[in-house]
Amino acid sequence: MDILDLVFPKRCVNCGRWGEYVCEECQVGMWEEEQICPTCCRNSRYGERHKYCRGELEGLTCLWAYEGIARKLITKAKYSGQFDVLEFLISNFPFDSAQGEQFFYFKKFLETNPIIVPVPLHPKREKERGFNQATIVASLIANRYSLVVKNLLTRVKDTGRQVGKKREERLKAMSGAFELSRDTPYVIPNTILLVDDVWTTGATLRECAKVLRRGGAKQVWGLVLAR
Ligand SMILES: [Zn+2]
Ligand SMILES: [Zn+2]
Repeated sequence: MDILDLVFPKRCVNCGRWGEYVCEECQVGMWEEEQICPTCCRNSRYGERHKYCRGELEGLTCLWAYEGIARKLITKAKYSGQFDVLEFLISNFPFDSAQGEQFFYFKKFLETNPIIVPVPLHPKREKERGFNQATIVASLIANRYSLVVKNLLTRVKDTGRQVGKKREERLKAMSGAFELSRDTPYVIPNTILLVDDVWTTGATLRECAKVLRRGGAKQVWGLVLAR
Protein backbone atom coordinates (compact mmCIF):
# COMPACT_ATOMS: atom_id res chain seq x y z
CA MET A 1 0.00 0.00 0.00
CA ASP A 2 1.16 3.46 -0.90
CA ILE A 3 1.64 5.95 1.96
CA LEU A 4 -0.61 8.31 0.00
CA ASP A 5 -3.41 5.77 0.26
CA LEU A 6 -3.32 6.26 4.03
CA VAL A 7 -3.33 10.02 3.82
CA PHE A 8 -5.87 10.24 0.99
CA PRO A 9 -7.81 6.99 1.09
CA LYS A 10 -9.46 6.11 -2.20
CA ARG A 11 -13.16 5.54 -2.64
CA CYS A 12 -15.08 4.04 -5.52
CA VAL A 13 -16.50 6.94 -7.57
CA ASN A 14 -19.60 4.88 -8.19
CA CYS A 15 -20.62 3.18 -4.94
CA GLY A 16 -18.39 4.92 -2.40
CA ARG A 17 -16.69 1.75 -1.16
CA TRP A 18 -13.19 2.41 0.24
CA GLY A 19 -10.07 1.01 -1.39
CA GLU A 20 -9.92 1.91 -5.10
CA TYR A 21 -11.20 4.63 -7.42
CA VAL A 22 -13.39 1.99 -8.98
CA CYS A 23 -14.13 -1.16 -7.01
CA GLU A 24 -14.07 -4.48 -8.80
CA GLU A 25 -17.84 -4.72 -8.96
CA CYS A 26 -18.27 -1.31 -10.51
CA GLN A 27 -15.55 -1.86 -13.13
CA VAL A 28 -18.16 -3.59 -15.31
CA GLY A 29 -19.52 -0.07 -15.86
CA MET A 30 -16.42 0.96 -17.84
CA TRP A 31 -16.68 0.45 -21.56
CA GLU A 32 -13.94 0.36 -24.13
CA GLU A 33 -14.61 2.66 -27.04
CA GLU A 34 -14.84 1.58 -30.66
CA GLN A 35 -12.30 3.06 -33.03
CA ILE A 36 -13.22 5.70 -35.59
CA CYS A 37 -11.67 7.51 -38.53
CA PRO A 38 -10.42 10.90 -37.25
CA THR A 39 -11.71 12.65 -40.39
CA CYS A 40 -15.28 11.41 -40.88
CA CYS A 41 -15.79 9.94 -37.38
CA ARG A 42 -17.34 6.78 -38.82
CA ASN A 43 -16.18 3.39 -37.65
CA SER A 44 -12.69 2.34 -38.61
CA ARG A 45 -11.51 -1.01 -37.34
CA TYR A 46 -8.00 0.03 -36.31
CA GLY A 47 -8.66 3.72 -35.86
CA GLU A 48 -6.81 4.51 -39.07
CA ARG A 49 -8.04 7.27 -41.39
CA HIS A 50 -10.04 5.80 -44.27
CA LYS A 51 -8.19 5.63 -47.57
CA TYR A 52 -10.83 7.87 -49.14
CA CYS A 53 -10.81 10.45 -46.32
CA ARG A 54 -8.41 13.38 -46.32
CA GLY A 55 -6.98 14.89 -43.18
CA GLU A 56 -3.94 15.66 -41.09
CA LEU A 57 -4.46 12.87 -38.56
CA GLU A 58 -3.20 9.49 -39.71
CA GLY A 59 -5.31 7.71 -37.16
CA LEU A 60 -6.93 7.96 -33.77
CA THR A 61 -6.87 5.72 -30.73
CA CYS A 62 -9.72 6.07 -28.25
CA LEU A 63 -9.55 4.20 -24.98
CA TRP A 64 -12.75 4.53 -22.96
CA ALA A 65 -16.29 5.46 -23.83
CA TYR A 66 -16.92 8.90 -22.30
CA GLU A 67 -19.88 7.81 -20.22
CA GLY A 68 -20.62 6.02 -17.00
CA ILE A 69 -17.69 5.51 -14.71
CA ALA A 70 -14.90 6.62 -17.05
CA ARG A 71 -16.67 9.96 -17.40
CA LYS A 72 -16.99 10.26 -13.62
CA LEU A 73 -13.27 9.58 -13.23
CA ILE A 74 -12.21 12.17 -15.81
CA THR A 75 -14.50 14.77 -14.25
CA LYS A 76 -13.11 13.93 -10.83
CA ALA A 77 -9.52 14.41 -12.03
CA LYS A 78 -10.42 17.70 -13.66
CA TYR A 79 -12.09 19.26 -10.65
CA SER A 80 -10.24 17.66 -7.75
CA GLY A 81 -6.74 17.69 -9.21
CA GLN A 82 -6.28 14.00 -8.32
CA PHE A 83 -4.13 12.94 -11.24
CA ASP A 84 -3.80 9.35 -10.14
CA VAL A 85 -7.41 8.93 -11.23
CA LEU A 86 -6.11 9.28 -14.80
CA GLU A 87 -3.40 6.76 -14.07
CA PHE A 88 -6.12 4.33 -13.01
CA LEU A 89 -7.79 4.76 -16.41
CA ILE A 90 -4.59 4.01 -18.29
CA SER A 91 -3.18 1.20 -16.16
CA ASN A 92 -6.55 -0.58 -16.15
CA PHE A 93 -7.04 -0.32 -19.89
CA PRO A 94 -6.75 -3.76 -21.52
CA PHE A 95 -4.37 -2.79 -24.36
CA ASP A 96 -3.40 -6.41 -24.87
CA SER A 97 -6.78 -8.08 -24.43
CA ALA A 98 -8.56 -10.22 -27.01
CA GLN A 99 -10.06 -7.08 -28.53
CA GLY A 100 -6.56 -5.58 -28.46
CA GLU A 101 -6.16 -6.23 -32.17
CA GLN A 102 -7.87 -2.89 -32.78
CA PHE A 103 -4.58 -1.34 -31.67
CA PHE A 104 -2.52 -3.08 -34.31
CA TYR A 105 -1.79 0.07 -36.35
CA PHE A 106 -1.43 2.19 -33.24
CA LYS A 107 1.28 -0.15 -31.96
CA LYS A 108 2.96 -0.13 -35.35
CA PHE A 109 2.95 3.65 -35.15
CA LEU A 110 4.56 3.48 -31.68
CA GLU A 111 7.43 1.50 -33.22
CA THR A 112 8.44 4.69 -35.06
CA ASN A 113 9.29 6.19 -31.62
CA PRO A 114 6.99 9.18 -31.99
CA ILE A 115 7.43 12.25 -29.82
CA ILE A 116 4.38 12.68 -27.60
CA VAL A 117 2.77 16.11 -27.77
CA PRO A 118 -0.04 17.08 -25.39
CA VAL A 119 -2.80 19.41 -26.60
CA PRO A 120 -2.05 22.60 -24.67
CA LEU A 121 -4.51 24.65 -22.66
CA HIS A 122 -4.45 28.41 -23.01
CA PRO A 123 -1.93 29.70 -20.40
CA LYS A 124 -4.74 31.60 -18.67
CA ARG A 125 -6.84 28.43 -18.27
CA GLU A 126 -3.88 26.37 -17.15
CA LYS A 127 -3.13 28.94 -14.47
CA GLU A 128 -6.73 28.83 -13.31
CA ARG A 129 -6.80 25.06 -13.12
CA GLY A 130 -3.21 24.52 -12.05
CA PHE A 131 -2.54 21.70 -14.51
CA ASN A 132 -3.34 20.35 -17.95
CA GLN A 133 -5.00 16.95 -18.08
CA ALA A 134 -3.56 16.28 -21.54
CA THR A 135 -0.01 16.76 -20.19
CA ILE A 136 -0.67 14.20 -17.48
CA VAL A 137 -2.13 11.65 -19.90
CA ALA A 138 0.85 12.32 -22.21
CA SER A 139 3.40 11.58 -19.49
CA LEU A 140 1.55 8.41 -18.41
CA ILE A 141 1.54 7.11 -22.00
CA ALA A 142 5.19 8.13 -22.36
CA ASN A 143 6.10 6.11 -19.27
CA ARG A 144 4.18 3.11 -20.49
CA TYR A 145 5.88 3.01 -23.88
CA SER A 146 9.25 4.62 -22.98
CA LEU A 147 8.67 7.64 -25.20
CA VAL A 148 9.52 11.31 -24.84
CA VAL A 149 7.07 14.19 -24.27
CA LYS A 150 7.67 17.60 -25.83
CA ASN A 151 5.46 20.65 -25.61
CA LEU A 152 5.70 21.60 -29.26
CA LEU A 153 2.46 23.58 -29.31
CA THR A 154 1.05 26.63 -27.58
CA ARG A 155 -2.51 27.83 -27.49
CA VAL A 156 -2.62 31.41 -28.62
CA LYS A 157 -6.39 31.83 -28.66
CA ASP A 158 -8.51 31.39 -25.57
CA THR A 159 -11.42 29.53 -27.10
CA GLY A 160 -13.36 29.49 -23.85
CA ARG A 161 -15.87 26.81 -23.00
CA GLN A 162 -16.82 24.74 -26.02
CA VAL A 163 -19.56 22.81 -24.29
CA GLY A 164 -22.95 23.63 -25.74
CA LYS A 165 -21.56 25.33 -28.82
CA LYS A 166 -22.62 24.25 -32.27
CA ARG A 167 -20.24 22.30 -34.48
CA GLU A 168 -19.64 25.22 -36.86
CA GLU A 169 -18.99 27.59 -33.96
CA ARG A 170 -16.45 25.20 -32.51
CA LEU A 171 -14.64 24.80 -35.80
CA LYS A 172 -14.50 28.56 -36.28
CA ALA A 173 -13.24 29.10 -32.73
CA MET A 174 -10.46 26.55 -33.21
CA SER A 175 -9.09 28.03 -36.40
CA GLY A 176 -5.73 29.64 -35.61
CA ALA A 177 -5.96 28.66 -31.94
CA PHE A 178 -2.58 26.88 -31.92
CA GLU A 179 0.98 27.70 -32.96
CA LEU A 180 4.33 25.98 -32.70
CA SER A 181 5.99 26.83 -29.38
CA ARG A 182 8.73 29.37 -29.53
CA ASP A 183 11.20 26.88 -28.07
CA THR A 184 10.35 24.30 -30.73
CA PRO A 185 13.49 23.01 -32.39
CA TYR A 186 13.84 23.88 -36.03
CA VAL A 187 13.41 20.25 -36.95
CA ILE A 188 9.97 18.90 -36.07
CA PRO A 189 10.01 15.14 -35.43
CA ASN A 190 8.81 12.92 -38.27
CA THR A 191 6.19 11.14 -36.22
CA ILE A 192 4.10 12.62 -33.43
CA LEU A 193 1.55 11.13 -31.08
CA LEU A 194 -0.86 13.91 -30.21
CA VAL A 195 -2.59 13.37 -26.86
CA ASP A 196 -5.71 14.82 -25.26
CA ASP A 197 -8.11 13.76 -22.53
CA VAL A 198 -11.43 13.80 -24.39
CA TRP A 199 -12.51 13.78 -28.06
CA THR A 200 -15.75 15.63 -28.71
CA THR A 201 -15.93 16.82 -32.31
CA GLY A 202 -12.24 16.37 -32.97
CA ALA A 203 -11.85 20.02 -33.99
CA THR A 204 -9.07 20.56 -31.43
CA LEU A 205 -6.94 17.57 -32.41
CA ARG A 206 -7.42 18.22 -36.11
CA GLU A 207 -6.31 21.83 -35.70
CA CYS A 208 -3.23 20.81 -33.69
CA ALA A 209 -2.34 18.16 -36.27
CA LYS A 210 -2.61 20.76 -39.02
CA VAL A 211 -0.07 23.02 -37.26
CA LEU A 212 2.32 20.12 -36.65
CA ARG A 213 2.08 18.92 -40.25
CA ARG A 214 2.63 22.42 -41.55
CA GLY A 215 5.68 22.57 -39.27
CA GLY A 216 7.12 19.49 -40.96
CA ALA A 217 5.80 16.40 -39.14
CA LYS A 218 5.22 13.54 -41.58
CA GLN A 219 2.70 11.56 -39.56
CA VAL A 220 0.51 12.57 -36.63
CA TRP A 221 -1.58 10.01 -34.77
CA GLY A 222 -4.07 11.03 -32.06
CA LEU A 223 -4.78 9.37 -28.74
CA VAL A 224 -7.56 10.29 -26.34
CA LEU A 225 -8.49 8.86 -22.99
CA ALA A 226 -12.17 8.91 -23.85
CA ARG A 227 -14.65 9.74 -26.56
ZN1 LIG B 1 -18.00 0.51 -6.54
ZN1 LIG C 1 -13.19 8.44 -42.76
